[in-house]
Amino acid sequence: MSEAISSSRSLHRLLYSSRQKFGPGVDVDAEVEAIVLTSALNNALVGVTGLLLAHEGWFVQALEGPAQAVMTTYQRILNDPRHADSRVLSAGPAEQREFGDWDMCARRISATDDAILTTLAQRQAFDPTTLSAAAALRLLKTVAGIKQRTTRVA
Ligand code: FAD
Repeated sequence: MSEAISSSRSLHRLLYSSRQKFGPGVDVDAEVEAIVLTSALNNALVGVTGLLLAHEGWFVQALEGPAQAVMTTYQRILNDPRHADSRVLSAGPAEQREFGDWDMCARRISATDDAILTTLAQRQAFDPTTLSAAAALRLLKTVAGIKQRTTRVA
């Protein structure tokens, strides 16, 4: 019993990708912003942090926090009609938070984000389902690094 409790509270990280599913004429930036606002409120209550990348019709998201909170959050996200074809890239215990600065933040890649473009350079079209767990984590950490730098400047 105590092992189960300690495991449900220990730090976990889940990475997944999914396809954006917005109707025609929908303002994707506004929708993503709304998702981030809801996420920041909900995630702060349960100790979940993370990063949401929106790029070329895809989402890639990292969720980290107590195992139970991460799984409950992911289950709720799975039911959201604003995306589909969710695919877990990795899930399991983590030694430390990589995205601890954010209850949730979102980032779209711009053409000037050289570091990210370098990370993505090996593929013709962005397809996160082909990313290994390590490559997905590297990508999101690169995005987080750029986000941190641009947030400091702004
Ligand atoms: P309610 O607000 O009661 O909504 C009921 C249902 O409607 C839910 O299935 C909800 O998903 C859906 N819904 C809500 N708003 C809209 C809308 N504008 N258009 C269409 N359907 C809608 N939430 C978090 O708490 N943490 C996260 O980290 C997080 N990440 C997300 C990442 C992605 C890619 C997406 C698409 C959503 C994410 N969300 C996240 C939002 C999450 O899916 C839920 O919408 C939110 O947590 C509210 O859940 P609820 O059960 O209270 O739904």
